[in-house]
Amino acid sequence: MRYFEHAEPVITLTAGPVNAYPDVLRGLGRTVLYDYDPAFQLFYERVVDKSQKAMRLSNKPVILHGEPVLGLEAAAASLITPGDVVLNLASGVYGKGFGYWAKRYSPHLLEIEVPYNEAIDPQAVAAMLKAHPEITIVSVCHHDTPSGTINPIDVIGALVSAHGAYLIVDAVSSFGGMKTHPEDCKADIYVTGPNKCLGAPPGLTMMGVSERAWAKMKANPLAPRASMLSIVDWEHAWSKDKPFPFTPSVAEMNGLDVALDLYLNEGAEAVWARHALTAKAMRAGVAAMGLSIWAASDNIASPTTTAVRTPEGIDEKAVRQAARARYGVVFSSGRAETLGKLTRIGHMGPTAQPIYAVAALTALGGAMNSLGQKLAVGKGIDAALAVIDAENHQFTN
Ligand SMILES: *Cc1c(COP(=O)(O)O)cnc(C)c1O
Repeated sequence: MRYFEHAEPVITLTAGPVNAYPDVLRGLGRTVLYDYDPAFQLFYERVVDKSQKAMRLSNKPVILHGEPVLGLEAAAASLITPGDVVLNLASGVYGKGFGYWAKRYSPHLLEIEVPYNEAIDPQAVAAMLKAHPEITIVSVCHHDTPSGTINPIDVIGALVSAHGAYLIVDAVSSFGGMKTHPEDCKADIYVTGPNKCLGAPPGLTMMGVSERAWAKMKANPLAPRASMLSIVDWEHAWSKDKPFPFTPSVAEMNGLDVALDLYLNEGAEAVWARHALTAKAMRAGVAAMGLSIWAASDNIASPTTTAVRTPEGIDEKAVRQAARARYGVVFSSGRAETLGKLTRIGHMGPTAQPIYAVAALTALGGAMNSLGQKLAVGKGIDAALAVIDAENHQFTN
């Protein structure tokens, strides 16, 4: 064992939080201004403007001052009233989990649940909406991270919008790593954050809110106010001329500012392309090595996380422990229903670089072989390199 548990690992390839970009770390070291200093109020407005630009929103997004679980719970608490009929779409642990929050605020919960290696079929959503005209809110997780699978939210969003229902989207681990924006899927509340594909630490929620969602929340007497769960309290906080309901996370805003600059300066399309290429190289390597991905098909596999199915007769935890102890590489486990069944390799922000697919394949294959598997690690690396080099060919010729 070369790398001891209590020393820092060499490479962290998790499905979030991820190691922040070095520039973001420097941003976190900026002065912690007093929140009512005019310089901070102007800075805050500018960070909201950059978030708006990155999220391609026509109105101001809201920043909430806790990691995105705060935003998801706040969305349920603020938008869902006891009279609403909620259709929750569950293709994984996060999608399923949102249903439990929804149930807290309305007893009327319908659900479409599919096996956790599959995606939601829009035709099933269309059929459900037709059979239940009383549905007023639909909730969906875009990238159900514990499964590494993607739901077709733009198609689902068009159906929900035609029905007239509100749409709540969890895009925490997809936004910034692939083409997804609140208005592309007609979301009324779209929750994301800096700690996955934007490569900043956990601590904030970025939320897109449609005008009609603002109206519904403000008309809801049970929507949290004077509370950490409040969204409505923060409606005007973006403005340098308006007070904050309570102290915002100043240092986290410093980090987010840099993360957004990096994203916007590199260019969204270029950022998405390196996420997609890293995942594609990873999947090619996984298959060539003799392993399989967890997702039922490649076309629903996430570009920001690859979940690799654990072969029969091997302990998943032991795989991660061996990868860390032998090579200093950290992966994520599954969660809840997927725990023990798969290992997750994140391609998020700074780790969405194709060479990390090669490192991940080496550490994963090496770890499994140390536990008695007979994987062709070299073939996996060759296959990953072939994918990467095919792409490079386009640039050099
Ligand atoms: C990461 C993540 C969240 C936020 O939860 P954490 O507590 O940061 O794990 C919410 N939804 C999804 C889909 C996520 O991947």
